[in-house]
Amino acid sequence: MDEITISAPATVSNVVCGFDCLGFALSEPFDRMTLRKTDRREIRISHQDDHDLPVDPEKNVAGVALKAFLDRTNAKHGFEIEIMKRIKPGSGIGSSAASAAGAVVAANRLMSEPFSNRELVELAMAGEVIASGSRHADNLAPCIYGGFVLVRSLDPLDIIELDFPPLFATVIHPQIEIRTSEARKILPVTVPLKDAVYNWSNLAAFVAGLQNGDYDLMARSMVDKIIEPVRSGMIPRFDVVKAAALSAGAIGAGISGSGPSVFAISASAQTAEAVAAAIEKVYSETDIQFIVYVSPISASGVSPI
Ligand code: ADP
Repeated sequence: MDEITISAPATVSNVVCGFDCLGFALSEPFDRMTLRKTDRREIRISHQDDHDLPVDPEKNVAGVALKAFLDRTNAKHGFEIEIMKRIKPGSGIGSSAASAAGAVVAANRLMSEPFSNRELVELAMAGEVIASGSRHADNLAPCIYGGFVLVRSLDPLDIIELDFPPLFATVIHPQIEIRTSEARKILPVTVPLKDAVYNWSNLAAFVAGLQNGDYDLMARSMVDKIIEPVRSGMIPRFDVVKAAALSAGAIGAGISGSGPSVFAISASAQTAEAVAAAIEKVYSETDIQFIVYVSPISASGVSPI
């Protein structure tokens, strides 16, 4: 096989109580990417979309991840990548992760799968460093594995796939850009012990809620005293959107990744649609453009199409 086309899903990381360690995959939106082997050991990038992303392989996360991949093999060939990006860069729903994850999963398939999923996450992390200035896997891991994933440790990388009940996400993406690197700079360097205890007990309870399909426990646990109070100020009308999602029946709601997207999760597709209508109403009262996605939480990660 010399060519493959894959889809790479958008992902929601942090999920309110799991900063930098928890994430899930959506079925919509997703990027498409075609990878072809080339005769020389090189990486070439082109894109068929309106996002003005760099085609220099050292600046595009897909190129950086593929370079890390090639460096671990003795392949004589290289890769040509065609990116059809539908997940807007800087949206907070894992646009950069989809490119890095898509590139390494596609390359792995073209080379008869020398690497495990865990190793692919490790390789793709090289891409996340150039996008956000930090090594993190809470978008990459769900993008590659699908479903709800916990990254217990980065070094060594320890990824835990979680069971989860039927869940539907509503995501509103206000068309403003918040760079992950900027959103990290405003975070506190130290946190009061009592806030840390509050957060880690809620993360543990949320995971128990997911495993047992206990929606009420999940709802009680989707709280955060450390990150959300600092970052929510960067998102116009965040508190109103969150309150509207909860009154429309969402289990919980919060900032997706580092924003500006805001997500909610619901137990049924109908509730997720009602949440979409409620939050659309809030943003329609502003002059900010937005896009809303309603999607089941998807058990599949990057897949061939
Ligand atoms: P997101 O959460 O949407 O991935 P980030 O701020 O983490 O947002 O990443 C977007 C940054 O990564 C932008 O500066 C963008 O130019 C850069 N970037 C480089 N290559 C890509 C790519 N292939 N896809 C998306 N973003 C990329």
